[in-house]
Order: sequence, then structure tokens, then C-alpha cells
Amino acid sequence: MRRKLVVGNWKMNGSLAQLSELGPIAAAARKSPGVDVAICPPFTLIAPARARASGMPIGGQDCHGKESGAHTGCVSAAMLKDAGARLVIVGHSERRAEQCESDKAVRSKAEAALKQGLQTILCVGESDKEREAGRAVTVVAAQLQGSLPQTAEGEGELVIAYEPIWAIGTGKVATPDDVAEMHAAIRAELKQLLAHRGATVRILYGGSVKGDNAAELFAVPDVDGALVGGASLTAAQFVPIVEAAGRG
Ligand code: PEP
Repeated sequence: MRRKLVVGNWKMNGSLAQLSELGPIAAAARKSPGVDVAICPPFTLIAPARARASGMPIGGQDCHGKESGAHTGCVSAAMLKDAGARLVIVGHSERRAEQCESDKAVRSKAEAALKQGLQTILCVGESDKEREAGRAVTVVAAQLQGSLPQTAEGEGELVIAYEPIWAIGTGKVATPDDVAEMHAAIRAELKQLLAHRGATVRILYGGSVKGDNAAELFAVPDVDGALVGGASLTAAQFVPIVEAAGRG
């Protein structure tokens, strides 16, 4: 039985003042003991967020594939761990697009994060053009083949987030049927690539998840939780999603 996992991705948003949202989010997480809840703020807020999160895991939104070295502006998985992070998102579509991250680069980030024992959320997802062309499942399978870590080194948990690019920050949500089809395809691919481990990997859905659509999404087979952007910025919007996961 896979526990539900709900992760907030604050992207390039947030401030020390906004960390006040963490108290009520952590309280809601405590009231939903069957759900794992975490928040990934910008790097600068990881350490202070940890101090305000009452034990709720705090994570990063990216890491470098190397442990240290001449990589100006980058942060390694070891540094995230040192700052108190317990998880990291890798391969988010915004980074794949804006920072031109390849599957190969995403794989090295995921391997570095797992090696540090971080829970590693590996994002995949198709564009609207790819879906319209009937290629959504093929594209996502290719991303998994290209970016899934090849080593099982370390103790970090691998998690997959299916995030159709056209649903991120747009208010458009994939239909439960489309989500079911894709999550089943991802599960099949994971079993193919990871053998028996493929059945235990949690698969999150991400893309305009809100309090009013979360329950329907969590009821879909093989949806093990959500990666939430915009609606994770305030407790008022995020807590209902956590509560829906607790009921689902
Ligand atoms: C995301 O950034 O991972 C995301 C799913 O964003 P939103 O919930 O705002 O669509």
C-alpha cells in the first residue's frame, strides 16, 4: 500500500514573511497521519523554513549532478542535505525548458540526490502539441527511459511526478481518464525498467491541482498524491488538498 504524498512547489515565490503559511500547513499534515506532506521553497528559504515547519519535510526544487566544484550559481544535493532538506524536485518542465535540461542531466541530478539519501521527485510530462499528436504516452515513456536513475545507490526514495506541461499553472486539469491512462502507462514502464521495485514507486499528478479537484484526482488508480504549484503558496489553498489526500 503506497501512502499519499502531497508536495508544494513554491517555484520562485516566497519570502521570510510568507513562511508563516507553514505553521497551519504543518498542523494540517499532523491531522492527516496517513499523508506525507512536504514543501519545496526557493533555496534561500530552506533553512529558515525548516525552523518553522515543526518537523514537516522541506526540500529543494533542483540540484546539480556533481557534489561540489566550479559550477557558479548551482547547488548540490549534498548542500541541500546540509541545509536540512529531505527531498528535491528534479527535471521540472520549467527547468527542462528554461535551463535546457536534458534527460541525461536530469538523470545525473536524480542519481546525485538519491546518493545523498534525499527523496527525489523526478518530473515527466508532455506538451499540448505532443498530446494533440497522440504522442503523450510515448513521450513520457521516453523521458522515463532517459532520465530514470540507473543506480539504486543511497537510501533516498524515488518518486515520479506526471505533470502535463499544458496543465501547469494554466487552470487546465487533465481528465481523470487521461490521468488514469498515463499513470497506468508510467507504472508499466517502471515495472519494465525497475522490475519489482517499479510497483512501489509513488506516482504523483501535477498540474493545476486545487482544493476542488484534488479528491477526484486522488481517486484515480495509481495516483499516489500531488505536486502542487500555485495552490501551495497559501495554507488556505493547500490545506484542503492535504485533507482530500487524507480522505482518499
Ligand atoms: C508545478 O509547478 O509543479 C505545478 C504543478 O504547478 P501548478 O499547480 O501551479 O499547476
